[in-house]
Amino acid sequence: MQAIKNLFPLLNQPKKVVITMHQKPDGDAMGSTLGLYHFLNKLGHNCTVISPTNWADFLNWMPGCDKVLDYESQPNKADALIDEADYIFCLDFNVLSRTKRMEEKLKLAKGNRILIDHHQEPQTAVFAFGISDTGKSSTAEMVFDFIVESGNIDKIDATIGECLYAGVMTDTGSFRFPSTKASVHKMVYELKERGLEHSHVHEALFDNFLENRFRFIGHVLSNRMEVFYEYNTVLMSITQADLIKYNVKTGDTEGLVNYGLSIQGIKLAAVIIDRGEERKSSFRSKDGFDVNTFARKYFNGGGHFNAAGGFNKEPLEEVVIKFKEAIKENVAGLSSYQF
Ligand code: 5GP
Ligand code: MN
Repeated sequence: MQAIKNLFPLLNQPKKVVITMHQKPDGDAMGSTLGLYHFLNKLGHNCTVISPTNWADFLNWMPGCDKVLDYESQPNKADALIDEADYIFCLDFNVLSRTKRMEEKLKLAKGNRILIDHHQEPQTAVFAFGISDTGKSSTAEMVFDFIVESGNIDKIDATIGECLYAGVMTDTGSFRFPSTKASVHKMVYELKERGLEHSHVHEALFDNFLENRFRFIGHVLSNRMEVFYEYNTVLMSITQADLIKYNVKTGDTEGLVNYGLSIQGIKLAAVIIDRGEERKSSFRSKDGFDVNTFARKYFNGGGHFNAAGGFNKEPLEEVVIKFKEAIKENVAGLSSYQF
């Protein structure tokens, strides 16, 4: 993988560009891809954003989201665009398997794959150009750097600002995680100077839920949450019947894991959801507990030091047993807690 700066001189010639992200995109995946999309369109490129799967409704307000192709619902159209693309930007993921059914297509693509990502252990061999930096708060911040370092800060407008702000704000837990370095606040300063209305983004993301989501959260907190004080751990395990009863849609479970981490003294919070085809897990931690390693070791997953996820094919009850065994094995790292 060549350094991303080697791509800058090539940006002057109009190209066919595909921009993609991980399956079930979150705020950072959608915000960073759309921020890059608006920027590259301004430079005269012909861009399309493709998501490997559908996404949560709470992202639909983002400028350009209505033009994003869902690979699963329009595979032929998306395949044709990937075939023709000169550049395929891969944002907010670093192993092709995180694009699920798109993986094979991306592997065979003739165009140059370009990585912009902040997760651990990138598959660098498959990218022609790229940047991987686990110290960065978000992929949105990395897209901001890409725009600035390529000499194009003047291209940033309120539209690009809204997309990038949505990405950085959601991936930093509204600027509270340790990844929120001074560079993040500097970036927000630059976006504000260029017309960003940040309150609009907060309202669009956090004040737009339907009643059922809160009924569902109430049910989970009352009936599906276990606290293991000896391990400073909280687990919420959610059945398929729960999802059906409360009409839970993609994205309704986002943020649920954080409730566990808000309990005094809790160091590890986990949510395991029976999604039918697999059991999807989310992990968040505080203090020095590494959930990236934890997710890789027991749950076929990965992510960051303090936020990771994974999936298992076994039934929910077995995954819950596995989780309880895993925290026992990690008692040394979990039982001590220092504020
Ligand atoms: P979330 O819990 O929000 O789904 O994911 C938290 C973090 O873990 C994200 O940065 C995400 O990229 C990563 N992650 C979630 N699920 C998986 C997975 O199945 N495999 C890998 N490698 N990373 C995951
Ligand atoms: Mn991210």
